[in-house]
Amino acid sequence: MPTIHHHISELRLALRPYRTAQRIALVPTMGNLHDGHLELVKIAKQHADIVVVSIFVNPTQFGVGEDFDSYPRTLEEDVAKLATVGADYVFAPTIDEMYPVLPPPTSVLTGAITEQLCGKTRPTHFDGVGIVVSKLFNIVQPDVAIFGQKDYQQLAIIKQLVRDLSYPIEIIGAPIVRATDGLALSSRNQYLSESERKTAPILQQELQYLAKQIGDNQQPLDMLLVAARERMTSAGFIIDYLEVKTAELTAVGDESINNHQDLVILVAAWLGRARLLDNQLVKINKIR
Ligand code: AMP
Repeated sequence: MPTIHHHISELRLALRPYRTAQRIALVPTMGNLHDGHLELVKIAKQHADIVVVSIFVNPTQFGVGEDFDSYPRTLEEDVAKLATVGADYVFAPTIDEMYPVLPPPTSVLTGAITEQLCGKTRPTHFDGVGIVVSKLFNIVQPDVAIFGQKDYQQLAIIKQLVRDLSYPIEIIGAPIVRATDGLALSSRNQYLSESERKTAPILQQELQYLAKQIGDNQQPLDMLLVAARERMTSAGFIIDYLEVKTAELTAVGDESINNHQDLVILVAAWLGRARLLDNQLVKINKIR
């Protein structure tokens, strides 16, 4: 069983003996763990001797009226799952432990990368992510940290944070883990009703179809996106965004396609009470 710590000072003390000769990995989560999270732990174990999983439903990354209160909290089950994949430590702090002052008067993230995509409808979200990830990096001081590619924009922002604040931490992006029908695993999938759960895989099917169409490069991108948005809306999704960006999340121009630049399709869409996130890389096959 992993050892659980609720206090920063205790975790630091526990990790101190490993620092000289062993590598420490951090896997930050909000808990309610599923196979996607466990995959991150397995990857962490390949890159480090000691794996720390943080479980913290971070209030600063939720906006007003979002699901902070109802977000599922299942610490006991989470720890049992983490034991099956060999995590060594669980860091499960209280809000007071993490935030002596709430909201914290310190901010670490601004700029274009935080204002687009999820940042448009969740304007305070990435600032909250930036604060909590910075704090976790300072508390755990890992050699390596693992984040899921499901949260593509978050991963890009964390790479930027590490670069700009000179954190001596290797960031690894882990592939998206999906249910057999293609839906990306997420703690929020449990907000879906039975019939919504049957509709949900359409999101991934649309991304795959769109990726193929963009890759074939026979029709203008804008037209493809308009048609895809219409199909998704008719299927019952309320689209927050469906956009194509370069892999670095800059705007796509004709030259991006003609130069065979790596592209990614990113989507956030509501289905009932659940806001689903997904993305798909695109391979360009032909020149327009
Ligand atoms: P969360 O608990 O939702 O904040 O997620 C914690 C970490 O797990 C983040 O780095 C997520 O990107 C990652 N993650 C969540 N779902 C998946 C998934 N289906 N596949 C891969 N990584 C995931």
